[in-house]
Amino acid sequence: MLVGVTALLTTASSVKHSQARRYAVSMSPAAWLRKLGSARYAILREGGTEAPYSSPLDKEFAAGTYECAGCGQAAFSSTTKYHAGEGWPSFWDVLPRAVRYRKDYQLIGEVRTEVHCSRCGGHLGHRFHDGPQPTGLRYCIDGLALRFIPKSGAGRD
Ligand SMILES: [Zn+2]
Repeated sequence: MLVGVTALLTTASSVKHSQARRYAVSMSPAAWLRKLGSARYAILREGGTEAPYSSPLDKEFAAGTYECAGCGQAAFSSTTKYHAGEGWPSFWDVLPRAVRYRKDYQLIGEVRTEVHCSRCGGHLGHRFHDGPQPTGLRYCIDGLALRFIPKSGAGRD
């Protein structure tokens, strides 16, 4: 009996530990690279930034949903997409619980807010405070980190 309780406590504590540190979708770097290809991998798994004006999704304004290209979790809606003119797909809001945030010190002299997928941890882009109302936020997202799913019809990148 006592042994059973101890085993149960150990299990509960290790589950809690792994939830705090891991994502629901987790793979080795090699498996991610195979799944994503090198261009998407550089963004999603290494925190890279695609060249401005390089993504066709920058000019996509059809109705639909933008998923994380790493795990397929819905992240942004076309209803919050707007033309920011910066060269990356931009949104003024994010779908509930789709992303998490972290401080990003990559640029010297500027602390940015990094946006990553809450399900796989994939790097999506950054969040700034110079967006339009009603939020005043600008989610500046790499097109390679997204997959656009039109409301009707097949998905396209
Ligand atoms: Zn994801």
